[in-house]
Amino acid sequence: MSVRVSELDTYMYCPRKVYFESVFGGNYINEGSLVREIYYQWRMGEDDPVKSALEKTGIIADRHSCKVERDYDYVVHLLEGCEELKHLKQVEYDLLVTSERLGLTGIADEIVKKGEEMGCLILRKNPPENGVWRSDRIKFTAIRMILEDNGYRISGGYIYYWNRGILRGVDSGFHDRRQVVRIVERIRKIKNGFLPDGVSDRRCQSCGYRESCEIEGVSFKARFF
Ligand code: SF4
Repeated sequence: MSVRVSELDTYMYCPRKVYFESVFGGNYINEGSLVREIYYQWRMGEDDPVKSALEKTGIIADRHSCKVERDYDYVVHLLEGCEELKHLKQVEYDLLVTSERLGLTGIADEIVKKGEEMGCLILRKNPPENGVWRSDRIKFTAIRMILEDNGYRISGGYIYYWNRGILRGVDSGFHDRRQVVRIVERIRKIKNGFLPDGVSDRRCQSCGYRESCEIEGVSFKARFF
């Protein structure tokens, strides 16, 4: 059973959410998918990356009548202002990669080159004050491990925080790789029917599975107590 790198992300948000996504399905066009497409269109030099991205993702052809309420032009303005990004040469983008050895599959947002060094770039929304979030590092590590299994020599990576227009470097070590392997094992268990604990904090307020979670939580506890 293959695990998607996006499921590692969900796991770090809340392990129980992985369970609900495996039961109800969690693939839909969200803000992250749209911004990723805006980024690709901008990289390709499109005149209006937002319009092209909206058309491409099929949300709607005309941004003026679209249901995406936010204006995403600011994303393009931030991209234009990020000088460091312009020094990274795009090698490949939106690359679906799989490692049978790891049982992992994922999308590398972009493979880039700076001089002779090859790196992997990932798009995320908001940065922490310094460095990168742990979940960003784990996601980068997972993608890096898959790429390396496919023969890519990755020297390091970058996280581009699109909501702030900030590019930060990221690296991974033995501990991160071990964490990836452990999380993949836990996700497999969840996808086989194990209901893990949820986070039960403010993250639940915006979670689409809140109702099911309360019901399942009760029935789950009732089975044991
Ligand atoms: S409601 Fe809270 S505990 Fe339940 S799946 Fe969502 S985030 Fe996790």
